[in-house]
Parts: sequence; C-alpha cells; structure tokens
Amino acid sequence: MRVIVTGGAGFIGSALVRHLVLDKGHDVLTVDALTYAGCEASLKAVADSKHHTFLHADIRDRAAMDTAIAEFRPDRIMHLAAESHVDRSITGAADFIGTNVVGTFTLLEAARQYWNTLGTFAKAAFRFLHVSTDEVYGSLGDTGLFHESTPYDPSSPYSASKAASDHLAKAWQRTYGLPVVVSNCSNNYGPYHFPEKLIPLTILNALEGRKLPVYGKGENVRDWLYVDDHARALDLIAERGRVGETYNVGGRNERRNIDVVRRICAVLDELVPTDTPRENLIEFVTDRPGHDARYAIDATRLETELGWRAAETFDSGIAKTVRWYLGNAWWWQPLRDQYDGQRLGLEAKTP
Ligand code: NAD
Repeated sequence: MRVIVTGGAGFIGSALVRHLVLDKGHDVLTVDALTYAGCEASLKAVADSKHHTFLHADIRDRAAMDTAIAEFRPDRIMHLAAESHVDRSITGAADFIGTNVVGTFTLLEAARQYWNTLGTFAKAAFRFLHVSTDEVYGSLGDTGLFHESTPYDPSSPYSASKAASDHLAKAWQRTYGLPVVVSNCSNNYGPYHFPEKLIPLTILNALEGRKLPVYGKGENVRDWLYVDDHARALDLIAERGRVGETYNVGGRNERRNIDVVRRICAVLDELVPTDTPRENLIEFVTDRPGHDARYAIDATRLETELGWRAAETFDSGIAKTVRWYLGNAWWWQPLRDQYDGQRLGLEAKTP
C-alpha cells in the first residue's frame, strides 16, 4: 500500500505516519509545508525507514502536488494538512482560507487528474480521505450528540474553513466520482501536541509553576480522544469506509476544560510532587469570542460498521501524555522557547 499523508509533520499527521509505517508496513510519502506547527522531529521514529519519504511542499502549489502524486503513484491520499488553531484563526483568518479551503481544492484537483489516469481496478481501489473536525457542527447544549447527519453550523473562522473543505471534498466525489471519504473527529491529545494547545500548555506551565490560563469559567465541554486511537480510526476509514460517507470519530470522553486542567495537575502532583497543589495555579481568563459550549461525538457508525474502539480512556491517555512530556523535553523545549507559555501562543519571544 502506497499512501500520501499531507500534514504528516503535524500532531495527528505524525501519529498517523508512525502507525502506517511502523505498525502497518505501508510506504508513506509525507507532504508538509513545515509551517510553525509542522515539525520534522515528530517524524524521528520513521526518519531512517526505507518505507518513509518526506517532501517539503505546500498543498496550495498545484505543480508540486501534480509531480508528487504522479511520481509516488499512491493507492491512497490522506489529507490532514491544515491550519488548525482556533485562536489563530480569530486573529488571522487568511491562512485558514488559503490552506484549508484553497489548499484542499488544489489537492482534490491534483488527485482527480491522477485518478483519471488509473486503470479500472486501481481507480475503484483508490481512496482520498479528507480529515476534518467535529467543530463543523457548531455547538451542542447540555445534551445530545453530533451525528453524521447533524447540519453544519461552524462558529469560528477555523471551523468555517474546515466546513468549506468538507463540502468541496464531498462535491468532488458526487460530481467527478473521486472516491472520497470524510472523517470528523473530536479534540485530540497525546504526544507531539504543539505546546500552544490547552493540554500540553497546561502540562508544561504546571511543571514550571506558572499560571494555568483557562477560558471563561472552564465550563466548555470537549470530547477528548487519544491521538493514536484517531490514527487507527483514520487507517480503518480509509481502508474500509464507504465512498461518499462521513465517519464521526470520538472517544465518548466528555470533559469540562476545568476538569481536564485539574486532572493534569493531579497526575503531575503524583509524578513530580510539590509543596502546594498545582491546581492553585489555575487562572480564569477572558473567554474566546464565539467559544462553542459543548462538543460530543456519536461514533456508532465507526464502531458498528468498522469495529473501531478507542483503546484509551481519558484517565489512561492523559497519564500517558503527561509521562511523555516529562520524558521528551528534547522535542517540546525548542518549540516552547518560542512561545513562552502564552495561552494564545501568538506572541513569540523577542530574541
Ligand atoms: P497541526 O496544526 O498539528 O498540523 C498541521 C500540519 O499541516 C503541520 O505539519 C503543517 O506544517 C502542515 N501544513 C499547514 N499548512 C500547510 C500547507 N499549506 N501545505 C502543506 N502542509 C501544511 O494539526 P493537527 O492537530 O495535527 O490536525 C491535523 C488535521 O486534523 C487537520 O486537518 C485538523 O483540522 C484535523 N483535526 C484536528 C483535531 C485536533 O484535535 N487537533 C481534531 C479533529 C480534526
């Protein structure tokens, strides 16, 4: 199996590449523009593998995508490259439109051109997996779950750009017959998560005894999934998912943000004891505009049709994650130095 993974130097992309190369023995071409969020060090585990190749390229570059696809001749394209940080989308939406919308369009066109050159069998076997988020569905009240049929209602420039890209991917299937499958996943956490995001930022700030900023009152609920569980789900969906369908991915692990932060403090207090509980470092900060109240995924289709189950509970996954950050400063310290522990991750330290 020959697989192109876009965004493979990112958080989820690198977990997927490790899974495809090391667990499945597939030949993988990672295509990544190495934006601030891309990190070749996240691919260290496959750097010496003859089954892995890295291409530094931008998905908006049609000529580069045409060449990469024509030369590698993939059986599958798994599209994860994106601008992914909601806070950044609020202060600068242009890159989100450029990569998430125009980049996805460019990649779909390049994939379609290649797919049209394939023979009948290869054409039927080819898959384009478009990887997306549950944020396209908007916000839930206190009850209910997002289903694959939930109407799109995005709140942020990020989720609006992902919603647009989902519609493009589905239209390329309906209009041109490109074998597209779409996945919409809840919030991920785990190793190699960029230090500006809630969970790694909380772990690292707590370790250093710095404030732990929490938006609003910390009441917002997210449905957390350990990143390796997501990687396995993506592989299954690309392998056995029905063309033209959407698969929701989620771990049935709803948590309020404040409870996530408290849990991290408790795990750290146990592993690296201090005089005062780290919970005391929590600081409530002005809420994010348009902050969705609650996300929760119904993953029944993925579970019943494809037999997927999350291996990690929230507690087991968060303990693994905290231990990983404790043991892998080589990976996060250089990134962290640039962002200085800011919640928004926007103000780079002046040199
Ligand atoms: P990430 O920000 O960690 O990684 C994105 C990667 O894409 C980076 O390596 C970056 O260099 C690369 N990239 C950005 N623009 C590019 C471009 N124009 N051309 C080529 N490469 C480019 O993101 P992530 O958290 O790993 O998310 C991956 C995908 O999964 C995204 O599509 C995201 O919308 C989706 N998703 C993420 C989550 C989550 O909780 N993180 C949940 C559901 C879905």
